[in-house]
Amino acid sequence: MTKITQNVVALAGGVGGSKLAYGLAQIVAPEHLTIIVNTGDDFEHLGLYIAPDLDTVMYTLAGVNNPATGWGVKDESWNMMAAMARYIGPTWFQLGDRDLATHLLRTTWLHDNYSYNQVTKELCRRLGVRCTVLPMTEQPVRTMVQTESGELAFQEYFVKLKCEPVVTGLRYAGAEGAQPSREVVSAVRQSDVIVFCPSNPLLSLDPILALPTMRRVLAASRSPKIAVSPLIKGQALKGPAAKLMKELNMDVSATGVAHYLREVLTGFVIDHADQAEEEAITNLGLRTLVTGTVMTNNETKVQLAQEILAFAGIS
Ligand code: GDP
Ligand code: CA
Repeated sequence: MTKITQNVVALAGGVGGSKLAYGLAQIVAPEHLTIIVNTGDDFEHLGLYIAPDLDTVMYTLAGVNNPATGWGVKDESWNMMAAMARYIGPTWFQLGDRDLATHLLRTTWLHDNYSYNQVTKELCRRLGVRCTVLPMTEQPVRTMVQTESGELAFQEYFVKLKCEPVVTGLRYAGAEGAQPSREVVSAVRQSDVIVFCPSNPLLSLDPILALPTMRRVLAASRSPKIAVSPLIKGQALKGPAAKLMKELNMDVSATGVAHYLREVLTGFVIDHADQAEEEAITNLGLRTLVTGTVMTNNETKVQLAQEILAFAGIS
């Protein structure tokens, strides 16, 4: 099959984002595909710089991800964690032995003053990922979760407290003053289509959209801008998207996501199960595509990617 040679840009978080990114990577020529990834989840732990969404995207594109967990590497072992537990007891953030290699190298290279883009590029190259994967910005942005009992750092909320606290607001600390890199801006400017992966609209897409320049560059782009709903029948396939939207008094449905993102979109993809919402989404001024959007294996990832690009007029 000849691969697509128009320029495809995708915005992604972790699990939902990486699945569609994988599908796109099978049908788009690598030099024409750029995945821009949320870094609002980044944090430091045990002296290591950890970028959960970038890692999920890189591992998935390289085919070494663990599909059971949605994070980390397959065939993982946990010797370091067991040894660490002897020193400090159980820790709340799991770091597998293989996964650790990524964090050690990223941290070392960042300390050696290589840029975040260069470090990501090298990790990808050595994993055999051929398309371009870019952190949304090279400057620090940290998602902060406001709850009834105070503000939490994202990983504390997400991993340590398992998303249990009721959320009253979200803040992307640093985003206001952060810039998308030159590479990010130029990928968006040169794009023929921009795909918003079925990622959490609040925790994964919003930090990217919170970069003021990113919003401006997206608004200026004439490319079709197509999002895929992460909610099907009002539920997330994984993670806290539906719970969060409910706590923030949003409409917890595909239409609710479309409404939330409508200013940056031209089209919206929903699942067959939500067919009844098509008209409401069209009424928001968006073109709609109704299709199967549950990506259970590599074939369905590719299939969805193909349908989205065809819907956007890319072939
Ligand atoms: P995270 O950073 O690991 O939380 O991952 P993302 O933000 O990229 O994706 C989380 C969202 O992906 C959840 O809201 C899920 O409902 C959605 N998701 C996961 N798998 C699928 C899928 O196969 N199809 C669709 N439409 N959404 C999915
Ligand atoms: Ca994430």
